[in-house]
Amino acid sequence: MSGHLDEFWPSVEVNSGWLGGGGESWERGPYYTDGLVPLAFLLQDPLLVAKAHRWVEWTLDHQRPSGAIGPEKNTDWWPNMVMLKAMTQYHEATGDPRVIPVMQRYFHYHLTESGRSRLERWAVFRWQDEVLTLVWLYDRTGDSKLLELARVLRVQGHDWRAQFENFKYLGKVDRSQVSLATHVVNNAMALKASPLWWLISGDPADREALYKQLAELDRYHLLPNGVHSGDEHYAGRHPSQGTELCAVVEAMFSLEHALAILGDPALADRLEKTAFNALPGTFDGDMWAHQYDQQPNQVMCNVYFRAWTTNGPESNLFGLEPNFGCCTANMHQGWPKFAASLWMATPDGGLAAAVYSPCSVAAQVRGGVQVRILEETQYPFRETVRFTIQPARQAQFPIRFRVPGWTASPSLLINGKPHPSSLKPGSFHEVNRVWSPGDRVELRLPMPVRVVTGGYNDSISVERGPLVFSLRIGEEWRRIRDKAPAADWEVYPTTPWNYALAADPKSAASSFKVVEKPLGDKLFTPAGAPVEILARARRLPEWRMQQGSAAAPPQSPVRSSEPLETVTLIPYGSAKLRITAFPYLET
Ligand SMILES: [Zn+2]
Repeated sequence: MSGHLDEFWPSVEVNSGWLGGGGESWERGPYYTDGLVPLAFLLQDPLLVAKAHRWVEWTLDHQRPSGAIGPEKNTDWWPNMVMLKAMTQYHEATGDPRVIPVMQRYFHYHLTESGRSRLERWAVFRWQDEVLTLVWLYDRTGDSKLLELARVLRVQGHDWRAQFENFKYLGKVDRSQVSLATHVVNNAMALKASPLWWLISGDPADREALYKQLAELDRYHLLPNGVHSGDEHYAGRHPSQGTELCAVVEAMFSLEHALAILGDPALADRLEKTAFNALPGTFDGDMWAHQYDQQPNQVMCNVYFRAWTTNGPESNLFGLEPNFGCCTANMHQGWPKFAASLWMATPDGGLAAAVYSPCSVAAQVRGGVQVRILEETQYPFRETVRFTIQPARQAQFPIRFRVPGWTASPSLLINGKPHPSSLKPGSFHEVNRVWSPGDRVELRLPMPVRVVTGGYNDSISVERGPLVFSLRIGEEWRRIRDKAPAADWEVYPTTPWNYALAADPKSAASSFKVVEKPLGDKLFTPAGAPVEILARARRLPEWRMQQGSAAAPPQSPVRSSEPLETVTLIPYGSAKLRITAFPYLET
């Protein structure tokens, strides 16, 4: 849909202010460009590349004499921050020599104007997204004025570090507490604030601040799909609360940068969990329809006033622009930016396999040697990742392979021989050797089924590798509005969902049977799920719906005299209706 959006969705049609028209002139044009640029250049799709050029060209060709960019009627710094992110990616893809001078003039203009025209509203809470580009440009020019502007933005911007040093939002916020500081997308963007700021401040406390931020958000707002609640403000840990799609893709982007700066493999585990669960779980199988809010326990998607903090009755529909159109413009940055972060450079002239997916990478390593690496895998559905290393000539350099924290007894073979040193889960495992063209590495990351405890009312969830598993529920999709070529859909359950698992949280493996299925074209659909987990369960008749959603899972452990049944769990991303936080039966 993203590849066609500019053909039928007014916010990014030719009338956009960011194409010189009189139409939408705020964040949607930049959002669209920010996802389209990496999508187009990674796919090397000529049509998409032509579309991306059109958006970038207008901004590059219409910088005003003052240095200002974008539509004249926009006076908000925020959308410019997004267009600058798109420009950095465009420059990395093309090397276009116009980009850096345009940015330099823009930032000098912003510094000059910064006393008179301070950050306001959204820009106050998203200042770090401009610092991202300032750091990118400083690395290329060394212009100290850029750091001066960064310090101004830090002062005018919201103090995220202070918010989490004294965190006040210990559950679902009520309307009187709602502010831009509790907004889920602002919070997702802010996950990169402290690591980025540490690059400038050098203060170890800034480096550590991300961990305090994550700990507080996890404690009070983490959902079993790996993302924080926000519908669209902090919504607590009830598994029927929602998370906005923009917050999913922005959290991924923030984690990609936090990981690149801090080199912490736990951030990569978190990134994969978001990418392989919350991201696909909020789209239909071919990505022509998305939700505004997704729920871990999502048993009915229809027009209804649910218990969101502030969102409207269409928020969990699958459609073109349910509730509000920001996600429609912004959502497609998710996969291509994830792909761009699979491999990273290391400070010692090597490479790091940071997150896993089938791909190939071309890079320059120590001594200027060109290397291509082919990575073949059915990860995250399978345990093995195979690499073929192709340096232009024999060369010594380190490759660091991430060993996820959830694996058990991982192993690594080089040209068929076991690597002598043992692999530690939750680390980057360094292999520093002379690599020859055609060397093969096989990484095995066993994925035992895990029961995650400590959910809402002591509910449990089931994970295997980076995947979260959910109850498969029969789905009836009802097309309620035609928005050709898109449409809006309600989804109704055709099978029961109110099950408690017969799973012993202390001995997970014995409770489940894993069934692997061939990988087809539509992995993220109930029928296309490449892995199933069979579990034993009993229905809980007293667990019913409440205000259009599954009521809270009853306090575990629970009792039920209903018959013992075998139920099927499938990857969260494949299940569009699902139970993810389960009560468990008393043993
Ligand atoms: Zn959104």
